[in-house]
Amino acid sequence: MQQRGFLLILSGPSGAGKNTVLDAVRKRCPDLVYSVSATTRPCRPLEKDGRDYFFLTKDEFQQRVEAGEFLEWAEFCGHCYGTPLIHIRESLDKGQVVVMDIDIQGARQVKKKMPEAVFVFLLPPTMAELEKRLRGRSSDSDEAIRRRLNTALAELKAGIEYDYAIRNDQLERAAAKLQAIIIAERCRVRRSEYSELLEEIVGEQGVISEDDEPATY
Ligand code: ADP
Ligand code: 5GP
Repeated sequence: MQQRGFLLILSGPSGAGKNTVLDAVRKRCPDLVYSVSATTRPCRPLEKDGRDYFFLTKDEFQQRVEAGEFLEWAEFCGHCYGTPLIHIRESLDKGQVVVMDIDIQGARQVKKKMPEAVFVFLLPPTMAELEKRLRGRSSDSDEAIRRRLNTALAELKAGIEYDYAIRNDQLERAAAKLQAIIIAERCRVRRSEYSELLEEIVGEQGVISEDDEPATY
């Protein structure tokens, strides 16, 4: 039976652990497709162009905005970030789960365009731990860390708009919760070709027609 794919949006303050949790879940669910965003922010030491982000100049980013190449895009802490549309449609048609790590402004745009997407918010255990994680990652300047911390409270408040919330205290526990959400969402009746499934189980009698009366017991 062919399942319909879906988009899973993962948001949360910078440093909450979105990438770390996603890496853990991708090891357990190899069929997940990670949507690689484009950004104008500088590449961090351990990042790779095309794997973590497509690193673009401001002009290149603007050209892509004007060409309508992004599903959504937003400015976050002084840099632009956007989701290229190209691979998303292809993956959804193949029945895959496409995971996007995007900020709340981008998530709101996706909700308008694709309301059937699944929205998950990742929270840090405490603000003190968030700061510790941002500093421990040692990939951003003090100024960038300060801007990210200043933005975090407003972002945390916006978590109420999401379908699911996960507190990333212990990595294994947070990853297991995200995996459970993916498994449950895959089982949604509206995401399966339910009539095909029924036909496989009960043969011809399983064909659902528009004239079918509601079931009585
Ligand atoms: P984000 O993608 O949300 O910006 P990262 O995944 O880069 O955050 O994580 C920020 C830092 O916090 C990294 O150094 C990462 O190793 C650490 N981290 C993530 N999750 C946990 C956790 N559950 N416990 C301890 N440290 C964590
Ligand atoms: P970072 O610079 O730490 O990699 O990401 C900063 C913020 O940008 C995070 O909140 C992350 O979710 C968000 N982000 C990453 N890619 C995209 C994207 O394509 N679109 C939007 N709107 N936000 C993104």
